[in-house]
Amino acid sequence: MTIENTPKFGFGTRAIHAGAPIDPSTGAVIEAISLSTTFAQSEPSKPLGIYEYSRSSNPNRDNFEQAVASLESAKYAIALGSGSATTALVIQSLPINSHIISGGDVYGGTYRYFTKVANTHGVSATFVGNLADDLEANIKPNTKLVWLETPSNPTLSVTDIAKVAQILKSHEEKTGSKILLVVDNTFLSPYISNPLTLGADVVVHSVTKYINGHSDVVMGVLATNNSELHEQFRFLQNAIGSIPSPFDSWLAHRGLKTLHLRVRQAATSAQKIAEFLVQHPAVQKVNYPGLKSHLNHDVVVRQHRDGLGGGMISFRIVGGAKGASVFTSSTKIFTLAESLGGIESLVEVPAVMTHGGIPKVEREANGVYDDLVRVSVGIEDTEDLINDIQQALEKVVATTSN
Ligand SMILES: *Cc1c(COP(=O)(O)O)cnc(C)c1O
Repeated sequence: MTIENTPKFGFGTRAIHAGAPIDPSTGAVIEAISLSTTFAQSEPSKPLGIYEYSRSSNPNRDNFEQAVASLESAKYAIALGSGSATTALVIQSLPINSHIISGGDVYGGTYRYFTKVANTHGVSATFVGNLADDLEANIKPNTKLVWLETPSNPTLSVTDIAKVAQILKSHEEKTGSKILLVVDNTFLSPYISNPLTLGADVVVHSVTKYINGHSDVVMGVLATNNSELHEQFRFLQNAIGSIPSPFDSWLAHRGLKTLHLRVRQAATSAQKIAEFLVQHPAVQKVNYPGLKSHLNHDVVVRQHRDGLGGGMISFRIVGGAKGASVFTSSTKIFTLAESLGGIESLVEVPAVMTHGGIPKVEREANGVYDDLVRVSVGIEDTEDLINDIQQALEKVVATTSN
């Protein structure tokens, strides 16, 4: 069975069957890993099949790309060697001396690329606190792209994608100049949100996180409905060579097949954990999009599947940096580590780990205090996760109250 991008099938059916044809020569239900770097030709420039050389395209990568395109309601997808390579490719496609407007608390590596690498071909970036409110005032004649990450990392503020898309559309109608909207959808995954259906031009993912979901592959992907953009990205990828291996493509495709089950489980547990944290006296502030008290909960309800809040939570703990340190060293199921979106639960302290490179003043202006703890909820049993958090909070109270 071949499943194109058709709304006729539900998400789970597409996750399992899109890009997953039965092998016509062996009948294998699961695709073989195609390691060959080159493919035979019958006459010069007449390949036997559709492949020539594995940098340009490879069966495992093709299949994975078809699956992601289907899940993101896209015509096209391109898989890359990492989420960071995906960001680099998109920015590389801009004309020299372009201007980017980016959300304020984007992924650290994205911030680094915008500020320390993109400038080598004259691309400059303006960071704004809230794109839905502050975008228009920051548009310049050479603004070519808006970079939006929702929910943001690690404070999980939510941006209204449809509203930003609408602002850019009116701008285009007024001035005739098109500004691309790129959404980094890593934190929600295609199961919870499909930015292209809300007006984005390009959606990008660090596949390393939810899409692969098993913390054993570093990979990225982008998807779009715009054929011209797709051709340009494809050309650039082949020219630059930023490709994932066949084995990684195969593993990520296997991971993707359970995306809907994993994300739903993680989000359901995260909701319960967030509600537990809110009422705990050792917790000061909980950032979680699924809470009714979240600043943009109305956007969450409109923009996220079933109003799901995702699997990421952050919260401020009593006892300052010490409290955060004791907590994250005391959990037994939550492993103290960077990254997110895997089957296993993780915990970290952004101020000294993922966001340690950002100056304190800037960090704190974005809500990243020394006592902020970030949690990636995995798919272990909810009750075990809550009990683990409870016992670690008790240790915090015992060590910081005397
Ligand atoms: C991890 C991450 C990236 C970078 O992806 P890599 O696969 O680590 O290169 C980009 N954006 C977000 C939101 C991420 O979490």
